[in-house]
Amino acid sequence: MHGGRSPWLGSAQRPVSLVRESLKCDALIVGAGITGSLIAERLTRQGLDVVLIDRELPGRGSTTASTAMLLWEIDRSLSQLTEAYGFERASRAYRASLEAVAGLKSLVLQFGLSCELRDKNSLYLAAGYTAKDLFDEHQLRARAGLPGDFLSHQMLLERYGVARAGAIVSPGAADADPVQLSLGLLRIAVARGARLFEGEAVEYDAASRAVCVGLDGGCQIEARSVILATGYVMPSIVRSNIQTTSSSWAIATRPQPQNLWKDGTLIWEDSKDYLYARTTLAGRIIIGGEDSDRAITPEARDRLIPEKSRRLRQKLAALWPMADTEIEFRWAGTFDTTSDGLPLIGPVPGAKGVYAAYGYGGNGITFSFLAAQLIGDLIAGSGSPLLGDFALDRDG
Ligand SMILES: Cc1cc2nc3c(=O)[nH]c(=O)nc-3n(C[C@H](O)[C@H](O)[C@H](O)COP(=O)(O)OP(=O)(O)OC[C@H]3O[C@@H](n4cnc5c(N)ncnc54)[C@H](O)[C@@H]3O)c2cc1C
Repeated sequence: MHGGRSPWLGSAQRPVSLVRESLKCDALIVGAGITGSLIAERLTRQGLDVVLIDRELPGRGSTTASTAMLLWEIDRSLSQLTEAYGFERASRAYRASLEAVAGLKSLVLQFGLSCELRDKNSLYLAAGYTAKDLFDEHQLRARAGLPGDFLSHQMLLERYGVARAGAIVSPGAADADPVQLSLGLLRIAVARGARLFEGEAVEYDAASRAVCVGLDGGCQIEARSVILATGYVMPSIVRSNIQTTSSSWAIATRPQPQNLWKDGTLIWEDSKDYLYARTTLAGRIIIGGEDSDRAITPEARDRLIPEKSRRLRQKLAALWPMADTEIEFRWAGTFDTTSDGLPLIGPVPGAKGVYAAYGYGGNGITFSFLAAQLIGDLIAGSGSPLLGDFALDRDG
């Protein structure tokens, strides 16, 4: 799910024990990345007996590759979403996303998780010669009650030293170390009694009252609810007409705290091949993008790491000329995305008791939080209009 080396894998992880016998539980979570960890925290908080399995070490999937910009702004602009679904539904998704980042920050504070979480503003840059679309986007956001200010070329240059046609600067975002965030949440769930194992789910049987999941070693886990949190690899019981996979590449410079832009604001760009940049607590600059839906196999994706790193380095030099662009980490990862930019969260059609959380695009961690909340509520018996908006069988 990722190749190369990201800055997040500092400390060695203890291996997790294998599933050696068949088990029963209230809820089985398949996948222990950021999604599985958030769901485990949520369901153990609801008092459920939870089992988590992962075929690799927890957090070593796309979560390790994430640049962990916790943005509430969605890959599709509010204007694009409004065009597709109307203003009410589009603004509901944006407001839910804004609340999700706030909820995630409160969770980290509440448990004192050590994951380098920092409150940040975000800077959404115009990619072309004009910022007209961004200005219209800003006005629509204001109508939806979303926070943020429009910056003209001149204001952007004066405040941030970035030369673009314009930007929207918004409060309410954050950044973090995604692996420490994920492992911290897992520790909380395990301390509450969740059982974490190494194991690969290979079969799902949802025909009886409980869901039965077959593992590669032959054992089975029976659960009243099964939550699929397997990153971009969707098992065959989940079908979506609007999901695709994409690869993204990133580099991190050596620490240069004296060279960073104002407040280490999160930067991203309104462009097809995407560009996103952040800083770290140690003063590194991380820049990523160059997304492609063609180089998906790990071999094809990782072969491109040298070339994509060179391009990202050039883009960094153009974006922030005073940066020391010497690269210390370079890596790539795959994630899944949807044609409308909204996630796939909720019950799996035709499989009673099975829930799934996929299709996050660039808002992986924000939407993971939302998934934990929505699926937790569903299992507890309550719904939300967002479940219709994010339905797995929607056509987009
Ligand atoms: C380069 C890059 C940059 C990104 N930047 C950002 C960003 O700035 N902000 C943001 O919010 N998002 C970002 N994302 C997206 C984000 O990283 C992902 O959406 C998020 O990590 C997905 O988490 P997950 O837990 O769903 O999946 P994963 O982390 O991939 O975890 C899934 C887990 O499921 C396990 N698994 C799979 N199949 C099975 C099976 N059959 N049985 C058992 N276990 C299984 C895997 O081993 C894995 O550990 C980025 C992604 C990439 C690649």
